[in-house]
Amino acid sequence: MGEMATERASKNGSGTNGHSASMIKVTAPATGEVLGEVPVMGESEVRSIVARARAAQKPWASLPIEERCELVLRYKEAIVERSDEVVDLLARECGKPKHEGLAHEVMIVADIAAYFAKIAPKLLAPREVPMHLLKHRKAMLHYVPRGVVAVISPWNFPFQLPLRDILLALIAGNSCVLKPSEITPLIALKAKQIWDEAGLPPDVFQVVTGYGPTGAALIDAGIQFCVLTGSVATGKRVAAACGERLIPCVMELGGKAPFIACADVDVERTARGIVYGAFANAGQVCISIERVYAHREVHDRLLSRVVELTRELKMGDPATDYVDVGAMIFPKQMDIAEAHIQDAVSKGARIEVGGKRRSGPGQFFEPTVLSNCNHSMSVMTGEIFGPVVPFMAVSSDEEALAHANESHLGLNAYVFSGDRDHGRRVAERVEAGSVLVNDVLINGGMPEAPFGGIKQSGFGRVMSDESLREMCDVRHVNVEKLSMPSDPFWFPYNEKSYTMFRKGLKALFGGGSLLDRLKGLL
Ligand code: NAD
Repeated sequence: MGEMATERASKNGSGTNGHSASMIKVTAPATGEVLGEVPVMGESEVRSIVARARAAQKPWASLPIEERCELVLRYKEAIVERSDEVVDLLARECGKPKHEGLAHEVMIVADIAAYFAKIAPKLLAPREVPMHLLKHRKAMLHYVPRGVVAVISPWNFPFQLPLRDILLALIAGNSCVLKPSEITPLIALKAKQIWDEAGLPPDVFQVVTGYGPTGAALIDAGIQFCVLTGSVATGKRVAAACGERLIPCVMELGGKAPFIACADVDVERTARGIVYGAFANAGQVCISIERVYAHREVHDRLLSRVVELTRELKMGDPATDYVDVGAMIFPKQMDIAEAHIQDAVSKGARIEVGGKRRSGPGQFFEPTVLSNCNHSMSVMTGEIFGPVVPFMAVSSDEEALAHANESHLGLNAYVFSGDRDHGRRVAERVEAGSVLVNDVLINGGMPEAPFGGIKQSGFGRVMSDESLREMCDVRHVNVEKLSMPSDPFWFPYNEKSYTMFRKGLKALFGGGSLLDRLKGLL
């Protein structure tokens, strides 16, 4: 087991991070403590797991949807019951503050389960689409589960992100195979353990562990739908692999969220919003505030308040203390933050606070605020995915919008204004999948609203009614309501039938009054 996967891991650059060939060693980012080991699964193992998922899918789909919803609610209750266990593991495996483990992960999963279990029976019921022209027929749409859904997920929200998609897939009648990040597999196995221990059908939700090649093997194992949440580079590889097999997919990729502070903002609340939106989860959020465009009228006051608030943040091991900022997931993430800062400083940016990793055990990077930034600096254009927020002063909303839209990414964006209508008007012009006015990050927990990106942030959406339906194939069954005396579209073709169609075309779609058109028909 695992040889094929490891061999391919080094070929495509995924690497094994120095772990042994067939096992992944999982360590705590805040302490370096070894938390456990999981196997690197190879092609044959992945195939047999997908085969089990396929076999389990039919009986699962044959349950009435209300029953599947009941079972998902049972899972939700088990998660809530065991939330301390989940939050504790998130703190240890991910370095995530406990408040965030609870509010950003467990609570969102519980809400998604409750929300969709309630609305799914109605949303996925067969529905009629009225025929506007061919009124003698009736179109019925049936939402048929796709089969086996692959969910490939990252390490930054290792509980919420995969379960968000898995719960919808399961409610819709699919079975699921999850390939969690190689960095945080234990929390995925915990989600699976809670599922199994709640007495739910084990094979409809399974987990395969390993590096990128295990994910690639999953795409090749006979799945019918794939949701990837990850980096742009992985998105390109996964979308290509899905394309080659014509597997429909959703790509939830990186972000570079701009934050526009208009001239009339409430400085105190805006500063608090920036500090939370930039440093929650140590900035390792796809919708983190990654660049601030502040109007010159408020720029200096806003910057100095953000700096003060940043100095007050408490950083430390979230497993043993209630801290605001936890650890960074691995050293590479700190290298990226450092490289952005060095590049910015070399081009004239100032470090207002932070700017370096903390010495001592664990992977901690000081929350950092940079000023005097511009678009020649990589910190304003490339994804940081760390606790670094660069400020740039602008003279108008137009200038802020031009810079905000000057990006190859477009996931989330933020506009703050003292006048919410003004804020909305500016927000409507930002090129992004979601734009929040006077709030930050909160749309990650809005199951009603579609979530996803444009440009290289990906395509397709998660959450929302559309996303639940997207977990299904649409089967259009069309039946006759009335029998016609003849079938005008069928053979034979002759001059008479051609003339009739030409008159029909003019009567239906030609110019002039209705009366004139009807006269033409006669
Ligand atoms: P990553 O792209 O390195 O890995 C994501 C997952 O893809 C992992 O499970 C990985 O093993 C797997 N993978 C890698 N190569 C693969 C391949 N060839 N075939 C199949 N699977 C493969 O991302 P990461 O470092 O874990 O996460 C950070 C990135 O995720 C950031 O760019 C962040 O912006 C993005 N992200 C996006 C969202 C969103 O909703 N849009 C949410 C969270 C994170």
